[in-house]
Amino acid sequence: MRISYFLSLSALALGAIALAACGSGNNGTTAHDHDTIGADGVRSITITGNDAMQFNLNEIRGEPGERVRLTLRHIGRMTKQNMGHNWVLLQSMDASALNSLGMEAAANAPDYLPRDMSVVIAHTRMLGGGESDTIEFNLPEEPGQYPFVCTFPGHFALMRGNVIVE
Ligand code: ZN
Repeated sequence: MRISYFLSLSALALGAIALAACGSGNNGTTAHDHDTIGADGVRSITITGNDAMQFNLNEIRGEPGERVRLTLRHIGRMTKQNMGHNWVLLQSMDASALNSLGMEAAANAPDYLPRDMSVVIAHTRMLGGGESDTIEFNLPEEPGQYPFVCTFPGHFALMRGNVIVE
């Protein structure tokens, strides 16, 4: 009797710890902590890029076909010519295709977008420090993993993540 009481208390305590760990969002990598729902019901997501060539998110989750309002903010101080950031959402592709596309886009000044825009689902403009750009688009209907990158030369290796449609 005492033992089973103790066990169930332990289970409750463990559950509470698991919930607390989940709710704290201390990994800082998914979009959930950065979302707001607008008056029009559209979810807004803010992603930042900094002077250290980093996005603050590497994963954004959403539902098939969901309307999304995404703001990219460049929170650094460097110019667009030296530390430009954009946010480019791409069709699903494997690592080597993504690599090729990143290289090709990097050679395509001044916007550094791929020549074949059919692989681009949505993109912001290229920003310098202090600038921001907001775009609205629908997530793909097909569940899956869609890579996003900054296509400024040399950035896609570090500035990348995935939109997970589920
Ligand atoms: Zn960049």
